[in-house]
Amino acid sequence: MTLPSHAQYVVIGGGIIGCSTAYHLARDHKANVVLLEQNRLTSGSTWHAAGLVGQLRSSASITQMLKYSVDLYKRLDAETGLATGWKMTGCLRLATNDDRWTEFKRLATTAQSFGMEMHLISPEEVRKMWPLMDVSDLIGASWLPTDGQASPSDIAQSLARGARMHGARIVEGCRAEGFEIKDGRVTAIRTSQGVIACETVINCGGQWARQIGAMAGVCVPLQPVRHQYVITEKVGGLSPDAATLRDPDRRTYFKEEVGGLVFGGYEPNPVPWTNGDVPGDFEFQLFEDDWDHFEQHMGAALARVPALAGTGIKKMINGPESFTPDGNFILGQAQELKNFYVGAGFNAFGIASGGGAGWVLAEWAAKGEAPMDLWVVDIRRFSDLHKDRAWTCERTLEAYGKHYTVVFPHEEYQSGRPRIVSPLYERLKKLNACFGSKLGWERPNWFAPPGVEPRDVYSMGRQNWFAHVGEEHRAVRERAGLFDQSSFAKFELKGRSAAEAISFIAANRVARGPGKLTYTQMLNSRGGIECDLTVAQLAEDHFYIVTGTGFRTHDYAWIREHIKPGLDATLTDVTGQWGTLSLMGPASRAILAAVTDADVGNAAFPFGAVREIAIAGAQVRALRVTYVGELGWELHVPVAAAGGVFDALMAAGRRHGIVPAGYRAIESLRLEKGYRAWGADITPNDSPFHAGLGWAVKLKSGEDFIGRAASGAIAAKRLAKMLAGFTTEREDVVLAGRETILRDGQFAGYLTSGGYGYTVGRPVGYGYVRRAEGVDQAYLRSGRYELVVANQVVAARIHLGALHDPANLRVRG
Ligand SMILES: Cc1cc2nc3c(=O)[nH]c(=O)nc-3n(C[C@H](O)[C@H](O)[C@H](O)COP(=O)(O)OP(=O)(O)OC[C@H]3O[C@@H](n4cnc5c(N)ncnc54)[C@H](O)[C@@H]3O)c2cc1C
Repeated sequence: MTLPSHAQYVVIGGGIIGCSTAYHLARDHKANVVLLEQNRLTSGSTWHAAGLVGQLRSSASITQMLKYSVDLYKRLDAETGLATGWKMTGCLRLATNDDRWTEFKRLATTAQSFGMEMHLISPEEVRKMWPLMDVSDLIGASWLPTDGQASPSDIAQSLARGARMHGARIVEGCRAEGFEIKDGRVTAIRTSQGVIACETVINCGGQWARQIGAMAGVCVPLQPVRHQYVITEKVGGLSPDAATLRDPDRRTYFKEEVGGLVFGGYEPNPVPWTNGDVPGDFEFQLFEDDWDHFEQHMGAALARVPALAGTGIKKMINGPESFTPDGNFILGQAQELKNFYVGAGFNAFGIASGGGAGWVLAEWAAKGEAPMDLWVVDIRRFSDLHKDRAWTCERTLEAYGKHYTVVFPHEEYQSGRPRIVSPLYERLKKLNACFGSKLGWERPNWFAPPGVEPRDVYSMGRQNWFAHVGEEHRAVRERAGLFDQSSFAKFELKGRSAAEAISFIAANRVARGPGKLTYTQMLNSRGGIECDLTVAQLAEDHFYIVTGTGFRTHDYAWIREHIKPGLDATLTDVTGQWGTLSLMGPASRAILAAVTDADVGNAAFPFGAVREIAIAGAQVRALRVTYVGELGWELHVPVAAAGGVFDALMAAGRRHGIVPAGYRAIESLRLEKGYRAWGADITPNDSPFHAGLGWAVKLKSGEDFIGRAASGAIAAKRLAKMLAGFTTEREDVVLAGRETILRDGQFAGYLTSGGYGYTVGRPVGYGYVRRAEGVDQAYLRSGRYELVVANQVVAARIHLGALHDPANLRVRG
């Protein structure tokens, strides 16, 4: 096919992701689509994939996407006439140690929460299902009966045929070589066959996606890594329906293929491919066999399946696959260009994801809005930091090495640190901070008392920092704590129309006059929560916006994109200019009063106010707000002055018993107070009305804002779900999120957050209680609740208000 001169959508890349995206755009949106493939379809990573298809992930939306893939692969041949090779063999995952077994129990609970069938079975049952396996070291296994395997090239070809049947045009041998860009949009693509004008570009270029993005100034942080498996001769006694097998403690996976086994793994010392550009003519190619590197998997596989000792190896596949710094793929609208989308970096589960990723990417590109909560894979979770290829490579290799390791709660990455430090870093280090990292920032998680090493020791139960965080928590509740939150993302919106612009984007009334601070959500057209932040009005034409560290790129892009054209309102990211110190606790007013001449009494400086005050010679933006449920101020300090202000506050606070405190204490404090966390308790899937934040939506104001119509409709009907707090009767369970909520013994939802409240002395969680016929407070109150925690049912209580308010402390009894 020759290159058309124009298309509504141009998809770049004819691997499984590009084919699936083109198929869904054509089928679901009747769109005019052209797919460009520089070589031949499937010739990148897709053709050599092993073809295991698993579905369960820790995000409900991603699990839903993967389930969609399976549904599609089952029935695609009926539509296109080309089989996908789908075989529902089920999947066994093996556990050989207690931590792994606990992980599986938690996963089994997650599966139940997400409506997936998963069983935990004994070694004897495993042996019966897979007689060739040595089960002597097993504690047990998890069994997911609906997982399976498929033929990667066949799926991609079937999707390509389906795309053509629905009118998409596929041009092979056509390389995208550059972009024409005007006013922040791609207008045309220069290709090896000429120029094609387009309205939207979707970069599904696999390991080339980074360099395709770079041609348009879009950062796609992925790293090609050499990934190997072998295909054996026939293995006597192996059933053609043998379940796919994952043996994470030995870092290996297996699947049956024409009577033999395919096996490979995720080594702790992966080999990256190139830090330069991937050659365009890398078509149906592999690397040289690397037996030395593969030997670790060979030994592990032989120990698990002894019959392999007498089985020949037919072939080794050593192929490139793109991996990312956090092990999740990269999807969605690039922040750099309005009409540029990406679907790449599939971390060796692109075959499993292909169907679903193409579906949601097509929806996203067609409607300009993600169709569900896709935050964990959203391209806007990255930042400028990820333009650093060496850093991205190093972090990606660490993530690859962790692919099969036990996932402990609160685990942190170690590579590429410290990267971005706050102006207080050295001071906090001297105070024995144990740091974590978020979007490259080093942030204190907790402070070790004298004689204790500031280091996390991970475990499935309570971890080594538990008691120390408890001390910080208590200090904040009873005296005062000082938190370094300099990594907060901060933006300024200025201009004659700034108030009009922000009022249309924010769901709450934020233009209430200079000196006022407002907590608000920003909603999508479905009324779901896209951003959750505070807006301080500094002057008629000047707003200061503060949001979470990790949401910097996302929230900035959301606000900028939704400023109506023609308005005089300029958004600037000022994160690097301001350090943030949060002074929280009942003694905070006395401490603040000791370091400033400003009146910080309640009348002069009430809750929800912002004032400029002087501390230690610096002009500080003081925001009277709290995320921990105590009297307090967020002090935004010019970076150069942050150290001096910190010292002054610590000195003035000494006689009040002030302590430096970290993010784990914040988490515990906010859980007790019932403050919602974006990305967990509140997401684009949830309306403020579902989340108990309806009071922050200006429906009655008559002002128009994004999401107004949907919010009105949601508020007018009985809610399908409502967020509630839970505590367990037992004090010793560990809540990590995704635990199933049972109401009167029946499934009612799952936890979106979990942790421990030191004041209430109980594990605390939040989750939506759901019911098709609708829920209300009376319904919530009337049930008997239990939580399923790591496959164990524990009695629980529901809480509809903040937990640490004295009236609620009955929970102790
Ligand atoms: C050894 C190995 C085993 C694997 N096993 C599994 C498994 O068991 N299960 C699983 O789910 N996943 C597995 N994977 C991962 C899977 O193969 C990938 O995630 C998936 O194929 C990625 O598909 P893609 O469409 O993103 O990329 P690709 O298949 O690489 O497609 C990208 C396409 O873009 C084209 N392109 C690039 N640049 C341009 C340009 N400028 N213009 C036009 N076209 C361009 C390329 O030629 C290529 O065809 C495995 C990977 C490897 C390496």
